[in-house]
Amino acid sequence: MNSIEKQNILNYLPEELEAIISELGEKKFRASQIFGWLAKGVSCFDDMKNIPAALRADLEERYYIGIPEAVRRQESKDGTVKCLFEFADGTQVESVFMKYEYGNSICISSQSGCRMGCTFCASTLDGLDRSLTGGEMLAQVLAMRKLTGEDIGHVVVMGMGEPFDNYDGLSKFIRLIHEKKGYDLGLRNITVSTCGLIPKIREFAVDFPQVNLAVSLHAPNQKLREQTMPVAGKYGYDDLMQACREYTELTGRRITFEYAVIDGVNDSAACAKELASRLKGWLSHVNLIPLNEVRGREYKTANGKSVAAFKKILESNGVAVTVRRTLGSDIDAACGQLRRNR
Ligand code: SF4
Repeated sequence: MNSIEKQNILNYLPEELEAIISELGEKKFRASQIFGWLAKGVSCFDDMKNIPAALRADLEERYYIGIPEAVRRQESKDGTVKCLFEFADGTQVESVFMKYEYGNSICISSQSGCRMGCTFCASTLDGLDRSLTGGEMLAQVLAMRKLTGEDIGHVVVMGMGEPFDNYDGLSKFIRLIHEKKGYDLGLRNITVSTCGLIPKIREFAVDFPQVNLAVSLHAPNQKLREQTMPVAGKYGYDDLMQACREYTELTGRRITFEYAVIDGVNDSAACAKELASRLKGWLSHVNLIPLNEVRGREYKTANGKSVAAFKKILESNGVAVTVRRTLGSDIDAACGQLRRNR
């Protein structure tokens, strides 16, 4: 049996592992022990020291531990580490480790490639390769922790792919990483970013009301949003805003709107005023992102002056706003570039 035919053991929750262990004729409590070892980041069954040798051999025959290999790695002077990870079947994804005042964070991918087609994004240039499993999303965190030797206390699902286009994988990942017997990451330390798949926003509000939600807006109106985000053709601006309002009402939680500021496209004072009028009085927060320029895309990042002016207009209208600190500016920081520039 080769490793591709075996199942990735990182995909199983403790209760699912219990069923597997029982089938192998072992005591159920072994499942918690194995789950604990996996969260520690072990890469082979023989490292599970308190597991009987016969059980380890049985597991080895049927399962593999799907920790990806770092096939490319870039490190920035500011401590940002960007990795191109490769899974056993050759699928490649990017993950980025970042240091913030509040602690270390990782941005992980939910898919290899993306089919959403945002015109400023490198991840979508070759379309969707495939969605990742929950275990493969968790494996990026485990692999990055091992590679950097640093604890990781915050996870952002904002790398390659649209997480809500892989809702099953995303849900499984959140359950896996939150599980007390394993990584035990608080739900409030997880942020999921979507380009605006409305039915899934509603589902997510019910399933995971404690997980942070960020919506990539990037425009103050439908006409402009359609120019850069094809998803707007399916899910219109007003409907998206309505779903976001419902999200804040249902969860009582603030929603973050991501806004990549693109020179000459969406950075004008008129755009800022229109966005402010949309968001005034909301339980929301705007995150202005200086665009990471992408080879093969013509967009340029807005200059510091226009970003500052944009921010001022939002603030003067009572809209909470921050400008995202540019991390890893000396490396291929734009998502999807490391995979393409290999
Ligand atoms: S910005 Fe996100 S949703 Fe849009 S194409 Fe890129 S990865 Fe996909």
